[in-house]
Amino acid sequence: MNEFQYQRPADAPSAVRMFAEAATAAPVRYLGGGTNLVDLMRRDVERPATVIDVSGLLSRDVRALPDGGVWIGAGARNTEVAAHRAVRERFPAVAAALLAGASGQIRNMATIGGNLLQRTRCAYFYDVASRCNKRSRGAGCDALEGFNRMHAILGASEHCIATHPSDLAVALVALDAVVHVQGAGGTRTLPLRELHRVPGDTPDVETTLAPGELITAVEVPPLPWAARSTYRKVRDRASYAFALVSVAGALDVHEGRVREARLAFGGVAHRPWRALAAERTLKGAPAEAASFRDAADIELANAVGRRDNAFKVDLARRLMVLVLQELATKGDAR
Ligand code: SF4
Repeated sequence: MNEFQYQRPADAPSAVRMFAEAATAAPVRYLGGGTNLVDLMRRDVERPATVIDVSGLLSRDVRALPDGGVWIGAGARNTEVAAHRAVRERFPAVAAALLAGASGQIRNMATIGGNLLQRTRCAYFYDVASRCNKRSRGAGCDALEGFNRMHAILGASEHCIATHPSDLAVALVALDAVVHVQGAGGTRTLPLRELHRVPGDTPDVETTLAPGELITAVEVPPLPWAARSTYRKVRDRASYAFALVSVAGALDVHEGRVREARLAFGGVAHRPWRALAAERTLKGAPAEAASFRDAADIELANAVGRRDNAFKVDLARRLMVLVLQELATKGDAR
């Protein structure tokens, strides 16, 4: 472990100020539950000179909003959110994604803000002897010709084919969640769908946050038919593993036709992948297998498989169809 300065500010504006002061000299990182950052520091992947512990200052509240949405403080632990009645009743896909995401011990420590900002589990990223553009821009990418079973099939580049590991983010992106952020100039909100980036030629830049911006809360807007939303995850072993492919979905069906759909993939791209093309295809279509297959085919038309992960294209197609069939059997909304 390398030496670092440890700071505990009293509130979010102070944390942002401390970040700006410390960042002039060396890398700075915010610490939430530590379930990812501490691992990365032990493995020498992350070498912050300053660690700013925000776990005590971020809200842990989870609140049912009067309009039917849910407000989640960024400091809330994954366990607390998964168990909250409003989350389970209004957005079961969110609770299911959290429960699929990690062991009980990890869920008890991991914060919601940290979950969204966790880093890829690409094995070459973790192995400091490997070439990795995400660790060191311009170094190369050993995953391209290496063992790439877990890697991306959508939105990747020749510079990085890593996937985003969060299950929670997939469910939240499908449900149009909004992120509240504290920055040097005050607070702002942005759709979660716009938080994570595709890699392009700068895979080391993973989000659209400005340096020092701190996630303070996540808000899920009302969506009555999301009470029947779901999250399905396919992984290499039944106990805790990252997704090969996952799908979050909600479907509004009326008199046998799809009125609206919300869909997102996990495990297939550098960011949670909102399936907008599939959603457009489904709108107004009969709620039946042929429509579901069409929607999945259109969403995956540009998918690219590599040596070890080509199977993911068909797996993603089948999983999306399965999820849509499951949602359709839950019946009409009204
Ligand atoms: Fe690094 Fe991305 Fe290549 Fe993995 S896929 S080695 S994270 S550049």
